[in-house]
Amino acid sequence: MRFGTKAIHAGVAPDPSTGAIMTPIYQTSTYVQRGPGDHDGYEYSRTHNPTRTALQNALAALENGAHGLCFATGMASIDGLIKLLKPGDHVLSTNDLYGGTYRLFTRIFQEFGVKFTFIDMSDASRVEPHITPATKLLWVETPTNPLLRVIDISAMAVLAKRHNCLLAVDNTFASPYLQNPLDLGADLVMHSLTKYMAGHSDVVMGALIVKDAELAERLAYVQNSSGATPGPMDCFLVLRGIKTLHLRMQRHCENGAIVAEFLRAHPKVDRVYWPGLVDSPGHAIAKRQMRGFGGMMSFTLKGDHMQDAMRVLSSTELFALAESLGGVESLIGHPASMTHASIPREERMKNGLADSLIRLSVGVEDAQDLVDDLKAALG
Ligand SMILES: *Cc1c(COP(=O)(O)O)cnc(C)c1O
Repeated sequence: MRFGTKAIHAGVAPDPSTGAIMTPIYQTSTYVQRGPGDHDGYEYSRTHNPTRTALQNALAALENGAHGLCFATGMASIDGLIKLLKPGDHVLSTNDLYGGTYRLFTRIFQEFGVKFTFIDMSDASRVEPHITPATKLLWVETPTNPLLRVIDISAMAVLAKRHNCLLAVDNTFASPYLQNPLDLGADLVMHSLTKYMAGHSDVVMGALIVKDAELAERLAYVQNSSGATPGPMDCFLVLRGIKTLHLRMQRHCENGAIVAEFLRAHPKVDRVYWPGLVDSPGHAIAKRQMRGFGGMMSFTLKGDHMQDAMRVLSSTELFALAESLGGVESLIGHPASMTHASIPREERMKNGLADSLIRLSVGVEDAQDLVDDLKAALG
């Protein structure tokens, strides 16, 4: 099956009891057994729920994996993965990172003795010296948030194999429509389903997708033991969302290209970060490992004044000022004071996160209206 067909059909089947074409919301905590231990694989909804099973199977299919595991949020899915590690284990991570991930690593798991190093992985040849005998996991986000740096997943997979550690890729920004890390050699894919996958800004959820059965079993153990599982209503919403993932992503990419070109030509804009621009540093790798460049981008203003950025942020009418991304509606945000506020300023500036940096999640509205909105706000 090709992508668009999988988005609609993978993991789902008409409900056996009624023929309902849409997977029912199995709003139940428990399941009646015929005799002790005599049941159809469902005992308690923290462990298994049929709506969640359908979603997990659909996600596995979209990422060309074998096993999907859903968690209550994207953060809970990362939390579940790191719980496979032990005190003293080391994680090598990208430095241009989702702020919540940085916080989880440094404020929660570092306290339990897991060690983290954050480096720029966009130059693959400089990564290996940071791998130590204690390194158990390479954590990669690509394209990165919010600077849209591109990391060579295949090159990281070679390093992970050579040093006997796992490679996990946060694929939230690309979605499986644009990029399939497992095909490039990654061991795990993580998604904040909250974003492009669900796509309608109405649900928060996360997932891990793997090929390896033993790894899936260890993760399922954490998923059930820690218990951060999503409810069936939310699983239904994500299942519904992914049925149009391919259609939405096409439009996100088209609109992304139009908005990026507009910004680049604007006299008040300094730099535009979007991997689709042919002269952007990650373009060559992005072209190789992605099928399109998506609707996420950032830009800075000439002079780099926080006040100028604030003026733009409060002047748009269509672009709504909000956290999050990947929904049908366009959003605008200010990483330094919003998503990345938990990263100290010094650390932020060191990693190129300027005060005037503005992040856009370009939605699927009519592109000309989006351009007009930005033109007015920048004017
Ligand atoms: C939003 C996001 C997360 C966290 O997911 P939640 O669903 O908000 O918990 C992780 N990584 C990236 C890249 C994100 O955008």
